[in-house]
Amino acid sequence: MATPENKLAFDGGWAYDPAPESTDHISLKKRYGLFIGGEFVAPENSRYFDTINPANEQKLARVAEASEADVDRAVKAARAAYSGVWSRMPAKERGKYIYRIARIMQERAREFAAIESLDGGKPIRESRDIDVPLAAAHFFYYAGWADKLDYAFPGQRAKPLGVAGQIIPWNFPLLMAAWKIAPALATGNTVVLKPAETTPLTALKLAEVIADAGLPPGVVNIVTGAGKTGAAIVNHPGVDKIAFTGSTNVGRIIQRALAGTRKKYTLELGGKAANVVFADAAIDQAVEGIVNGIFFNQGHVCCAGSRLLVQESVADEVVAKLKERMETLIVGDPLDKNTDIGAINSSMQLEKIQSYLKIGKEEGGEMHQSACRLPKKGYWCRPTIFTGVAQSNRVVQEEIFGPVLAIQTFRSFDEALAKANNTPYGLSGGVWTDKGAKIFKMTQGLRAGVVWANTFNKFDPTSPFGGYKESGVGREGGLHGLDAYVKLGAR
Ligand code: NAP
Ligand code: MG
Repeated sequence: MATPENKLAFDGGWAYDPAPESTDHISLKKRYGLFIGGEFVAPENSRYFDTINPANEQKLARVAEASEADVDRAVKAARAAYSGVWSRMPAKERGKYIYRIARIMQERAREFAAIESLDGGKPIRESRDIDVPLAAAHFFYYAGWADKLDYAFPGQRAKPLGVAGQIIPWNFPLLMAAWKIAPALATGNTVVLKPAETTPLTALKLAEVIADAGLPPGVVNIVTGAGKTGAAIVNHPGVDKIAFTGSTNVGRIIQRALAGTRKKYTLELGGKAANVVFADAAIDQAVEGIVNGIFFNQGHVCCAGSRLLVQESVADEVVAKLKERMETLIVGDPLDKNTDIGAINSSMQLEKIQSYLKIGKEEGGEMHQSACRLPKKGYWCRPTIFTGVAQSNRVVQEEIFGPVLAIQTFRSFDEALAKANNTPYGLSGGVWTDKGAKIFKMTQGLRAGVVWANTFNKFDPTSPFGGYKESGVGREGGLHGLDAYVKLGAR
């Protein structure tokens, strides 16, 4: 707890000198075309849109808007590369190209990290230490599988599906591109990928890396645009598989569009995870985990711990410590290495979060925000918690996708489990306790794809990821991630 002396430090905020990451080493073009058939080409209707830096609302570049005709060009390029080169290439050779992508990405890691923070608003510490290294790790991991598919699927023969259409969101732009592209290539498929409208730049940089790695033209195609471009990929008859990560609403639209077609699909959708803290947990450690679970990446995390269930006997202590910790979080310039919470990704997302803050208060919740100052320009949200909320409240049930935590209490194990599972989602969960038996019981009872014990938001390419219920269909990552890109037959 804060003593009177260090309380002063909290009230005044932590005084750190600015430590901005340099942007001298990055190169951005003024305008980006579509990456089709191994080169950047103009969109057929010559339409471009701006991508901005959400921390200062300044334009970073203009980006092509792909029409249906452009998507068709990309799918044809992917098909030609699939039939002509990629599916026939010895698997060992395919693996070499994927390794090469991973290595070039590592060499250019600082550039990728800075661009990810500029375009999306996430703190440089995260893009530098999490997004970019994990993206490279995914390419390394799946490069290793390329010539070992016989061991991944013993006794069976794994054949590629063909052309994979891949659509990704704005919260982990480069990492989601890596999650999608790496297993598709390792299994012999070719790709048409669409990044989100607000964060296209690292995918376009990845296109440069792919060209530098010498991948045969058309193996990976990157088409930028908004929802309509995504829909054109989903509905294109030449696509054999759809891999989508995004909201449950768009996931439903896609599932309806694919019903009755021969296309295989995986959907990674929303979440409303509970962090369950028992009285016997290491409380300080749990508070750090709660903070990491919901304030990491501004809460723009599908598997964010956006609900806290805390055992009644320690609830006051946990909430007091959490409030104290929240005061020390630095909200501001994403490029500053001291920043804990960066910019909200877009004005639309900020409006959505603010509407939930209003709803939470109207529903009778008690809202508490840290007292930090916010920059004048850009999109910002203070770390926020709601106490006194009921299970039926919208801030408890619905995905907010911002730094907003709904806190409830429980008395018994069964009550905690029932409350944690009382959600349409089932992507992730967390359990904090000193007792291994409670961890096992909770992880077996929680209907969630990933459950972290005494930690939160940890990722690894070897570990499968995906949801129960309305959080999705299928798994990405690990061996399971290969399965989504192959058809299995007899040897
Ligand atoms: P979104 O609105 O569903 O968009 C996701 C992607 O789909 C974007 O590229 C989007 O394009 C595109 N899109 C929009 N409408 C489409 C349509 N009718 N057909 C095809 N594509 C379409 O989601 P978001 O707001 O970007 O991302 C946040 C959501 O993603 C959250 O719900 C979060 O939980 C989820 N998410 C899930 C995971 C997971 O692994 N389960 C991981 C990360 C995020 P534009 O953005 O360009 O319009
Ligand atoms: Mg942007």
